Amino acid sequence: MKRLSAVPVAMLAALSLLATASQAKDKKKDPDEIGNRDVGKGVNFYSLEKEIALGKQLAQEVEREAKIVDDPVIAEYVNRVGQNLVRNSDAKVPFTIKVLDSEEVNAFALPGGFFFVNSGLVLKADNEAELAGVMAHEIAHVAARHGTRQATRGAIINYASIPLIFMGGWTGYAIRQGAGLAIPMGFLTFSRGFEREADFLGLQYMYKAGYDPTAFVDFFEKIESMEKKKPGTMAKVFSTHPMTEDRIQASQKEIQAVLKAKPEYVVSTSEFSDVKARLASLHNRRKVDADKDATRPTLRRNPNAGGTTTDDGDGQAKPDQDERPTLKRRE
Ligand code: ZN
Repeated sequence: MKRLSAVPVAMLAALSLLATASQAKDKKKDPDEIGNRDVGKGVNFYSLEKEIALGKQLAQEVEREAKIVDDPVIAEYVNRVGQNLVRNSDAKVPFTIKVLDSEEVNAFALPGGFFFVNSGLVLKADNEAELAGVMAHEIAHVAARHGTRQATRGAIINYASIPLIFMGGWTGYAIRQGAGLAIPMGFLTFSRGFEREADFLGLQYMYKAGYDPTAFVDFFEKIESMEKKKPGTMAKVFSTHPMTEDRIQASQKEIQAVLKAKPEYVVSTSEFSDVKARLASLHNRRKVDADKDATRPTLRRNPNAGGTTTDDGDGQAKPDQDERPTLKRRE
């Protein structure tokens, strides 16, 4: 009798261990658990407070160098789409969302929730769900704290930069490293693992917010085929988040495996169309003005901002690196 009872007890213990492990694993795959799972854990030198302070500093740098679209209708709409996604995400920081006047199809979120959406992204998206998909991916990078976790990894490898971090000098280090926008690429370009995770989480966020998750994949496939038809025109598309074939396939698999099909999804809104038309007319008006006045500078860069070349200390100026996000500068 004793032996017989001992076996089930051990088995039960083992089973409950297994159950705990699979529960923890499933949480990340379960959109119903969004907000109740710590997706941002991992080795990190930055407290959440420090991360917000850092992001704020970097965002001020972006705003000093780039042009923000201040049209209230456009700004309010993009912010609203983003905040709705944030509410349906694991993010633990409040978000500040702004539209950058840049025709490059891109978006980037700095650590701590400072999020910039290029006007080019809105113009190239066919519907609100496509825009939301890309925004959700960015929100996932922030929720999972990829920026500071990656910076921490870099710092562990590069011992020389550790004292700088502890003295609060990371930004100074960043400015020397990437003269252009003074945003260290470590905060914007992520490892393949982090990209995959942002895809994985972002799909869940857009799904939970009510959008059709396949729009995320559709958008990248569309951009890819545009690039194939007209090589070079889209060369910089998602320079900070290159969409590769394996990421597209993994996203498709995840949609099938994890996201139970809903009877109805939000694909687009009339507001999206209105905002897109408004942005297009802003861009067109500028083109017309530039044609009318040949003396008007067409290159929107401040020659004193020092962003056109990179000097890494060997005295040799180098052209902008392609992977750095290009931003339109304020005149
Ligand atoms: Zn990404």
